[in-house]
Parts: sequence; C-alpha cells; structure tokens
Amino acid sequence: MLFKNEITPAFAAELMQDSDKVLKFVADIKWEQGYACRNCGHTNYCEGKTASSRRCTRCKKEESATSHTIFHNIKFPINKAFYIAYNVCVLGSDFSSYNFSDQLGLNQMTCWKFRKRIQNCMLKFEVSKKIEIKQFLMTEYK
Ligand SMILES: [Zn+2]
Repeated sequence: MLFKNEITPAFAAELMQDSDKVLKFVADIKWEQGYACRNCGHTNYCEGKTASSRRCTRCKKEESATSHTIFHNIKFPINKAFYIAYNVCVLGSDFSSYNFSDQLGLNQMTCWKFRKRIQNCMLKFEVSKKIEIKQFLMTEYK
C-alpha cells in the first residue's frame, strides 16, 4: 500500500470533497524544497490565476500545482482524480472504470485512462519497497 501512513483516512475524505485542498496538498509537496521557475530558474513567485499555482515574477511563466505530477493535464475535477488514486493505491480497491464512472459521474473512458495511469505509475515502483507520497505524486506524465 502506498502512503497509507502519510494520509489519514479523515484527511483523505476531506481531500476527496475539495479540489482546492488537493491542489494545495500537491503544491505543498511539489515545492517543499522551494520554488524555482522551470523556464528561467528564478526563485521568486507570486500567486497564479488558478488555485495553488505559482507565477514567476521575472519571466511571468505560470506553473499549475499539478503540472509535471501524476495529475498532469487532468481534464476533470482533481478531487475526483484523487479519489481514484487513493482507492487504487491506498485501499487496493479493484473497482473498475465502470464503478468509478458511476460513483463520480464521469465518463467511463476518462476513468479508465486515469486508473490506467495510476496503475502504470505503481508498476514503476518495486512492490516490496515503501513508496513515499512525494515519489508517487512527482511521477511525471506528459
Ligand atoms: Zn521564470
């Protein structure tokens, strides 16, 4: 099981209800060592247009909380994506994309693709090894 001890069930339930909280959670982990602009390397930023995004004060390039993470370019609410990730990784749920589609009111193919992404990500890690949530979240998808 991934990051079971890093996210309590109560906190997970909170995240599943609130996209902004998921974005903040991902941003806090992503930039825990500090911010550096991917475009120019500058370390000063201001708030971007979307929740928890950061905008370089020099070149004005904005980076969302989720870009270059497992949630890269997700086109549906991030709290729903978190729900799928948590169920698959932490709870070890064998819900199909049809189950997720019903529960979340999302297109089945959307659920299938994201579930597949999570499963592919997990395959990159050794089963026996304890995976920290940071390693998991920062697995890049382009
Ligand atoms: Zn910059």
